[in-house]
Amino acid sequence: MDVKKTAHPVEELTDDPVVIDQVKRLIHIAPLEKLFDYCRARSLWPFGFGLACCAIEGLMAANMPRFDLARFGFEVMRGSPRQADVMLVCGTVTWKAAPFVVRLYEQISEPKWVIAMGSCAISGGPFVDSYHVVPGVDKLIPVDAYIPGCPPRPEAVIEGWLMIKNKILDPKVVNKIRG
Ligand code: SF4
Repeated sequence: MDVKKTAHPVEELTDDPVVIDQVKRLIHIAPLEKLFDYCRARSLWPFGFGLACCAIEGLMAANMPRFDLARFGFEVMRGSPRQADVMLVCGTVTWKAAPFVVRLYEQISEPKWVIAMGSCAISGGPFVDSYHVVPGVDKLIPVDAYIPGCPPRPEAVIEGWLMIKNKILDPKVVNKIRG
């Protein structure tokens, strides 16, 4: 079979062998999507979805100067799903709120990720047997990272964010749930 060798992009711009050699040695061409992922992983914009105490106890503490989530580029909390790429579900999800959770998730444009923060968002938490509580937000929407705790420590919140970062950089990463 005749295999056609693909030309390096610089060979379409010049036939000067010195320039071609220099460019091939100095410039590495990466897929554009990899470059986007590199930038995305360091500037995620969260859509804060505080439903109960987790938002106050864990999330706000992680955003304050002591833990300083801004170090990682994740601090630009948005009030609109149209300006966000990560949905943070912090707190108890009730069946009454479920349609709004799903609608807001659908309004976030792709690519998007979801963090279930706290045992209520993961599994219903202390209210799991209540008739009105959804036993985990992953029954409604896909979840990419789980942050356990009631409420989670700010360090755990940061670790959850880093899971999303690693997942963007390497989609093969399997997230761990720590008890
Ligand atoms: S997991 Fe605990 S702290 Fe978080 S919303 Fe539920 S009851 Fe509140």
